[in-house]
Amino acid sequence: MKNAITKDDIKKGLKKLGLKKKSIVLVHSSLSSLGKVDGGPMAVIKALIETVGKKGTVMMPYPLGNATIAKVFSSMPGVFRSVHPVHSVSAMGAKAAYLTRDHDKMPTACGKGTPFGKLVDLGGHILLLGVDQDRNTVLHTAEDYADLPYLSEKEFRYVDEKGVEKTIVLKRFPGPHRNSIGMDRIFLEKKIMKMEKIGNAMARLIDARKMIKICLQELKNNPAAFLCENPNCADCVMQRGKIKEARLKKEDFTLSAAGSKVAQEPEEMMKILQGQGIKSIELDTVWGKKIVELSPSEIDILKQTLRNNKFSISGIRSDINRDPISEILQEDIIKEFKRYLDFAQIFDTKYVVVSSFYVLQQDRAIHREKLISLFKSMADIAGKNRITVVVENEPGTFCARSSECGEIIDAVNSPFFKLAFNPANFALVGEKPFLGISPHIRRMGFVFYVNDALFSGEPQLPGYGNAEIKELISILRCWCFSGFFCIKPEIGSGKENFNMAANAFWHLLETM
Ligand SMILES: [Zn+2]
Repeated sequence: MKNAITKDDIKKGLKKLGLKKKSIVLVHSSLSSLGKVDGGPMAVIKALIETVGKKGTVMMPYPLGNATIAKVFSSMPGVFRSVHPVHSVSAMGAKAAYLTRDHDKMPTACGKGTPFGKLVDLGGHILLLGVDQDRNTVLHTAEDYADLPYLSEKEFRYVDEKGVEKTIVLKRFPGPHRNSIGMDRIFLEKKIMKMEKIGNAMARLIDARKMIKICLQELKNNPAAFLCENPNCADCVMQRGKIKEARLKKEDFTLSAAGSKVAQEPEEMMKILQGQGIKSIELDTVWGKKIVELSPSEIDILKQTLRNNKFSISGIRSDINRDPISEILQEDIIKEFKRYLDFAQIFDTKYVVVSSFYVLQQDRAIHREKLISLFKSMADIAGKNRITVVVENEPGTFCARSSECGEIIDAVNSPFFKLAFNPANFALVGEKPFLGISPHIRRMGFVFYVNDALFSGEPQLPGYGNAEIKELISILRCWCFSGFFCIKPEIGSGKENFNMAANAFWHLLETM
């Protein structure tokens, strides 16, 4: 432990940092970090005021908690205070009145026209005295100027200078959690920040205008630059989801997910999906029940949950056509299919996934006509409701190899009958879904499962197997594919598996 530091020691440190006469400085501080200070908080305040002089200005956040220096400062004679429910400041000096004026008249807490926006415009500085970038309020100004997708409107109540209780709706409000600690090294690299030890505290002085410029560049490259990377921080996961959702709006395709692979509780399912920017679900089971077995009240709850979370149902996954074709009656299948169509209409979906019956290779020719006729009827009924029947390629069924899929879809010949393209299943029958399959077949795809696997059959994360997922996504984007990419992980169900698969998809998209 060093001896107590004096006001002059602090002044010397501030000068070394580059603080001068006429400087305008926003101070975020921690008194205890300095060690023992001769004269306490007042010595720190005096050092600041004397360093910037009469023509300079010192500003501090109005203390909400136990910030000793800011607390003492705010109660000094000659200090102006801005009226604001969340980001009030105190200021003393030449620009104090100007900086603190009309804070609550501004549409945002930290943007243009607020004390922070004005500080930037005036070429001011930010002093972090024993605190890190997480305390740097002007980073909110950068978020505001970047108009980041995770910012939202928030309502606050406060009492104005006349004692009148008021309500304010603040635009582009962030948080609650963020993590801007990583910006520190960038500010150093770009030489817009100086660091000096004052007492026991590491002090940082940052040029606010240059900082905003650099932050805007960083946020343009990575809108999540100010968010933490902890996968268990629900707040940052949600904010990253908003960024992803905004990113998907630039695409022609819709990103969807197989709901039952995510969770069985709709609320939980949607929360996990929102974290990946996904607002569309391919539904097969919820609450452990098949969708067609839901009671009217369960349907209502599900619909309400979807509405509240602004989700839609991309399609419904049925479990029909899974028997050997020799054992089924056409009427039974159509009856069952109609039940699914009813539910597809209730949930306003675009497609119903079906299988194409298990069949032995030598029996294909015998049952082919029965299959085509059945698919034709299904496509006719579905088409009347503008719903597309999609048949998923699957080993052991009529639609196992790509040539078989193409042949059957051509024979059914309906705009409402298409392929649910599962690249992993093509890999399973030894086909290369990109290099080995004709573009004609790819154009039949209405839904593409983002599923990967090794030729040996082992499921993999998207981009880790033999199913050429990246090439497929890339070529479909070149064609402005406007159907669905659906994440349906085969590696396992649940939050963790789903997030691994979805993160792998995002990695592929962000490296194209
Ligand atoms: Zn976080």
